[in-house]
Amino acid sequence: MAYLRGGSTTLTEAEVQRVAQHFVDPEYKALPDHSAELAALDAEHPGFARWRSRNVQAHKRAGYAAVTLSLKPTGVAPGDATDKQLDAIADMADRYSFGELRTSHEQNIILADVEQSQLHALWLEAREQGFATPNIGLLTDIICCPGGDFCSLANAKSIPIAESIQRRFDDLDYLFDVGELDLNISGCMNACGHHHVGHIGILGVDKKGEEFYQVSLGGNSARDASLGKILGPSFAQEQMADVIEKLINVYVETRTEDERFIDTYQRIGIEPFKERVYAANH
Ligand code: SF4
Repeated sequence: MAYLRGGSTTLTEAEVQRVAQHFVDPEYKALPDHSAELAALDAEHPGFARWRSRNVQAHKRAGYAAVTLSLKPTGVAPGDATDKQLDAIADMADRYSFGELRTSHEQNIILADVEQSQLHALWLEAREQGFATPNIGLLTDIICCPGGDFCSLANAKSIPIAESIQRRFDDLDYLFDVGELDLNISGCMNACGHHHVGHIGILGVDKKGEEFYQVSLGGNSARDASLGKILGPSFAQEQMADVIEKLINVYVETRTEDERFIDTYQRIGIEPFKERVYAANH
């Protein structure tokens, strides 16, 4: 760093401006803020309120919002969409978001510039197409690599693990109660599923030709980034949903008000989780 500082690769303000010219804003309208109307719709349609609380994000421009289309309904490989669904998403992007969409590393799709007055119509369409699961940032919004079902480098399958966890936590009320949690799964140490930085990380490992799963806790990809710590010996595929449930139970029983899973973990450390998960094995 000392050698590079001030050298020929220094990013100048002029260079930032030159590149910024290539990123022009879409033609935003001058719109009023629709918060009051949206709150009235929330009261009328609880499902819309729930979706808005998880899948709609604030926008820098008044009257607009960013919408995340969830590709994480239970029973579908995280991030998967059919050809027909992709056509439907492209069509929605044309009609609601200046013909532009973005894919996220969390394996969802974002319509970044939606008029607030269109949110209800968009929700109805997204629900029809299967993209309105209100789980963004929750336990079932799992990042999951293709694993052994599709990847020749895999040590273990990852999609069935994601599905078993989604099925175990398929109750929306409970999911909302558990709150924000990043659960990331990789089928081998190449870490395409970012398991190191999941609040709960799962890594597929090979033990004498059999598939096992190592669990880590405390990974974090936010500003206070950290790598997860390995919980202990690995588990068989059929144990994984139980293991995750035990970890969640420790959190729910121990959390203080407004603490997310990662906050509780940072306060109490790995031991209480370890004790609960391995207790039955002794
Ligand atoms: S983490 Fe491993 S198994 Fe998963 S996609 Fe990457 S290389 Fe394949």
